[in-house]
Parts: sequence; C-alpha cells; structure tokens
Amino acid sequence: MAIGGSDPGGGAGIQQDIRTVTVLGGYGSGIPTALTVQNSLGVEDVSPVDSLYLERQLENCLSDIQFDAIKIGMILTKENVEAISKVLTRYAQGIPVVLDPVLSSKNEKALLKEEALKVFFDKILPVVTVITPNIPEAKRLLGDEDDQTIDQEELGKRLFKLIDGLTQRDIAVIIKGGHGTEGEKVKDVLVDRDGKVAIYGQRIATTHSHGTGCAYASSLATFLGAHVSLRDAMRLAREFIEISLRESSSLGAGIGPVNTLTILKR
Ligand code: PLP
Repeated sequence: MAIGGSDPGGGAGIQQDIRTVTVLGGYGSGIPTALTVQNSLGVEDVSPVDSLYLERQLENCLSDIQFDAIKIGMILTKENVEAISKVLTRYAQGIPVVLDPVLSSKNEKALLKEEALKVFFDKILPVVTVITPNIPEAKRLLGDEDDQTIDQEELGKRLFKLIDGLTQRDIAVIIKGGHGTEGEKVKDVLVDRDGKVAIYGQRIATTHSHGTGCAYASSLATFLGAHVSLRDAMRLAREFIEISLRESSSLGAGIGPVNTLTILKR
C-alpha cells in the first residue's frame, strides 16, 4: 500500500509507487493524501485530501485487504499525519512500514507543512519500521541544515539516536546519498540496532530524476514485503534506482522521471 501525494504527471507520488510495485511483480494500491498541480517544470500547488476522508480510505482498505508492506510518502498536513498515525497504529502491527520523509519538491514547494513537521516525530515514527531521508532531509529533521561538515554516517547515527530517544522504538535509518555531489559512487548508509552498513552504487549523471525518492522507498517496501532482509532490500533498491536513472529521459520541457519501466525489459 502506498500512501502519498498524487502526481498527475505520473513521475512521482503514488503513481510512481504503484508503477514500481507493479514492475517488481507486486500488487500496488494507492491512497492519496494530497492532490498536486505539477508537471515536469515543478510543483505549482498542493491541496490536501480531507483528513477524515483519508482516515476512512485507509480504514476501509486495511480492514479488508492484507497488505505485505506499507510505504508512506508526501503527507502535507498535521491532520493527515494524525489520520495516518491513528489507522496504522491499529492495522500496521507486524507489517514493514517505509517512511520517505518528503519535505519539499525540487522547486522548493513545501510538501510537509511546518505545523505537520512538529507532530511528525510524535505521531508518524511510532508506526514506522524504516525511514529513508536523503542528506538534506536528514539535516532538516535533525535541525542541522547548515552543517556542511557532517557526514552520512554521523547523520544516520544522530537521527537513529534522536528517534530512539523519542519513541523508544527500533527504527532503522537509511540516509540516501543521491543528493551528495562527491565521487562516482553513491553511498547509502543504514544505521539500526545492529550497527551501520554502507551500500555503494554507481552515480548516474542525469537531470531526469523526478520520482527517484518515491521509487527507492516503494521498491524497498516491496522487497521487505517479500521477506527480503533490510540489508539485501537496500542493495536491490539501489540497483533498481541505478537502472531506472540510467534509462531515464525527458518528458515535457523540464525534469523527466526515472524510468522504472526499464526493469521489465530485463
Ligand atoms: N509530488 C509528489 C506527489 C511527491 O511525492 C514528490 C516527492 O516525493 C514530489 C512531487 C517532488 O518531486 P521532485 O523532488 O522531483 O520535485
């Protein structure tokens, strides 16, 4: 089950999530938290789904269908953070829940409001198994946005410690390295109770990367739902994103989407 924003252009959000799950051989469902007005040039506007309606969609589906994994992306409002928290507390026990903490778009439109960020730790993290921020998102969650010196391992350790302290729960932290700029390799760092691991992939030079974060988190959720270990799921998700970025191309006048469909050719 993918819970997140709708991208009418299809490159990100629940449209990308469902495509990712589908090409990996799974069955994807999509629960919209918000509508967006966007195309390849960026996100122009956002409008939340009514929180009671979101709650009813979640409750209705989860009380009927047995999902193997849940992925949460863009949430936008405090009310929707609370609605997801309420329903998942009841239904997501024992199911892997991947949270991609979507904070803003590339053109800097807020996709999680400030007031929602305040309840994020309290309400959403207790229902989550693994959180997948990129480097800027991790810094923002830690309140260390301006610290240029802090490396990925340190970011992961600090975020794991902060979450552990706040929730007393064992939530794995993956700091994705795609937003770093150094070297030919991309490094993803996992920090969990068992320590830390770095997974390396090839950095792919392309501007067409819309939907990368969504595809990464939903592929990770798909692998976890198929009972792959977290470390192996991370390797597979990085490989999936590498192929999808290699084959990405323009669609519209701006930033094109990752081409997750290419996996079907293999
Ligand atoms: N729209 C939705 C629904 C998203 O979930 C996201 C990112 O996760 C975006 C837009 C932003 O995409 P980008 O980072 O390519 O601007």
